[in-house]
Amino acid sequence: MKPNKKSLPDQNGFFGDYGGKFVPETLMFALEQLEQTYNKLKDNNDFKKQFYKDLSEFVGRPSPLYFAQRLTKHYGTGSIWLKREDLNHTGAHKINNTIGQILLAKHMGKKRIIAETGAGQHGVATATVAARLGLECHIYMGAEDVQRQSLNVYRIKLLGAQVHSVDSGSATLKDALNEALRDWVTNVDNTYYIIGSVTGPHPYPMIVRDFNSVVGEELISQSQDLFNGMPDAIVACVGGGSNAMGIFYPFINMTETRLIGVEAGGEGVETGEHAAPLNDGSPGVLHGALSYLMQDDSGQVKSTKSVSAGLDYPGVGPEHSWLKDTGRAEYVAVSDGDALKAFHQVSEFEGIIPALETAHAFAYLDELMKDFNSDSNIVVNVSGRGDKDINTVAEIDGIKF
Ligand SMILES: *Cc1c(COP(=O)(O)O)cnc(C)c1O
Repeated sequence: MKPNKKSLPDQNGFFGDYGGKFVPETLMFALEQLEQTYNKLKDNNDFKKQFYKDLSEFVGRPSPLYFAQRLTKHYGTGSIWLKREDLNHTGAHKINNTIGQILLAKHMGKKRIIAETGAGQHGVATATVAARLGLECHIYMGAEDVQRQSLNVYRIKLLGAQVHSVDSGSATLKDALNEALRDWVTNVDNTYYIIGSVTGPHPYPMIVRDFNSVVGEELISQSQDLFNGMPDAIVACVGGGSNAMGIFYPFINMTETRLIGVEAGGEGVETGEHAAPLNDGSPGVLHGALSYLMQDDSGQVKSTKSVSAGLDYPGVGPEHSWLKDTGRAEYVAVSDGDALKAFHQVSEFEGIIPALETAHAFAYLDELMKDFNSDSNIVVNVSGRGDKDINTVAEIDGIKF
């Protein structure tokens, strides 16, 4: 939330060539209204005070920066630190953004809240903040994800929100997003759409990034306190890219810190069966923004594959596309198999069961730690906890309850 004169996006919502507002005319007014509200409130002291108060009292921030002793010993080349977003109320980084956006909705007088969700974490985080303010809440979720994330579906219902299962397309996150956008076009007057990642049309990628930047801001002061310097590298998984953007953003001008985003390699990037648009995609328009995208020669969106519902998305936030092209951040991919191995390893070594999404970031340490020596400090953004994934992993491991 720190004003930064040189920061992107530009006035039209572009990060270099990427971003923008590719939406039906009926939504332009709503996006402009949102942008005006946000620009007015983001530097308002009362608004900021409320945001940080809620993050502290309701979410439990700041999240610890925790030294991973046994993982560090395992690699033997540098200290590994964990930014514990898994300890937030509702179990992931997503709540940082929903806390901020529900405050915007309240200021705009909107009584009805909608959201899309993949793994269900954003649905839970949205239903949570809507319950807190007594607002009607509708969550769109692909039928495939409704099945593999049944625990989160029930959590959303317990919180008083309605879950709409989406059968179209691949019945995953992109289809849920389509339906949420359709709802918004129809009900734009009374409805606020809380997008869950740094995706969608301007101003969403900027807003979601700014609200999640609290993670990177905390990391700066915690790094100073705990190892008297800045991290040599920060590793985060990338679906739409909000947990990565939130921890990267305050470091963008600190070029001595490597920023590494890890996409879902699925069956392997070379097989085409993955969800890694920055590694194996090309620029195109999806859900209102121009960004790297998995598409075929005629521009049709390709199907994706990942063991992790939260990463199973063919697009990515436009700011990541810009960070890739400028070389400021590096983007790699790890396979389902390697992510599952890391899921087990981190659970056994650290007593922390990570989300399957987060397990992708951990898996890349096998490669990354070779680049460092014992004086180095590497930070993994632990975007969420793995309770929601236990059924999925148990099934893969052949365990029946
Ligand atoms: C949703 C989710 C992700 C992926 O979303 P980003 O916007 O890329 O951060 C990653 N980790 C967890 C735990 C999630 O719930």
